[in-house]
Amino acid sequence: MLEVSDLRVVYANGTEALKSISVKAGRGEIIAVIGRSGAGKSTLLRCVNGLQKPTNGRVVLDGDEITAMSKRQLRDARRHIGFVWQEFNLVERLPAMTNVLTGRLGYDKSIRSAFFLFSKEDKEIALRSLDRVNLMHRARFRSDRLSGGEKQRVSIARAISQAPKIILADEPVASLDPELSVQVMSDLARVAREDGVLTVINIHQVELAKEFADRLIGIAQGVVVYDGTPAGLTDDVLDRIYRFDKDAVTMHEKHLNIEPSAKPAPVPRTIIT
Ligand code: ADP
Repeated sequence: MLEVSDLRVVYANGTEALKSISVKAGRGEIIAVIGRSGAGKSTLLRCVNGLQKPTNGRVVLDGDEITAMSKRQLRDARRHIGFVWQEFNLVERLPAMTNVLTGRLGYDKSIRSAFFLFSKEDKEIALRSLDRVNLMHRARFRSDRLSGGEKQRVSIARAISQAPKIILADEPVASLDPELSVQVMSDLARVAREDGVLTVINIHQVELAKEFADRLIGIAQGVVVYDGTPAGLTDDVLDRIYRFDKDAVTMHEKHLNIEPSAKPAPVPRTIIT
């Protein structure tokens, strides 16, 4: 379903976010991508949905090369990609139901959809999707009246209502407390599993990744350093994934503990050249 080959991303400022990433994933897999902040997880996800053009390499989704698509082709391709973002990306003043219905917009190219006049079938799909995350009773609630966990479950309902080929979730529980995080991850994994949808989740909580994913991909400094089962995530492997993080923490601490006397001398205001 997804084939990422030799992906390299160098940003305009020279940062090499991904060095050479190759990953194959099949229908129904639930994959957690773990790694320290700055490892390249979001960049990888943005390449899969076509928001980021790689410097080298290819992304092929269900036989279609995302990395070779025009903007228009990408818009069509994204119809089959469900997104779950850290900040939910709901239209706050619209009811939960309408937010879920926006997941159906790509399927209706008629002028009706531009005015949010959805078909009976779309409404049924949206309601069923809300029901699957146990939020049928919130269908008419404005989204800004929902709790954080409910908002994220609405965005999961929106993603599944698209009948996507893949769901991409970028730090879906980073804004939620631990209890709600478990519920949201459990809902996401359950509906993805029921529908057999390949799901790729960027997540920094290793315990949640181990509990809900079938496969973990560990990234450090733009390179895959682990690709395997949750059971294989030994201390050594964790060290490989997060080692650079410890270095970063140590450097940060050193920086904070700088003795006043060790600070560089202030630059003189007038420099005679
Ligand atoms: P993660 O999601 O694992 O935190 P990212 O993919 O966001 O990592 O970032 C990987 C690296 O690329 C980091 O060093 C980050 O600072 C850098 N980066 C991300 N986006 C940009 C950008 N638009 N321009 C320049 N550098 C970027």
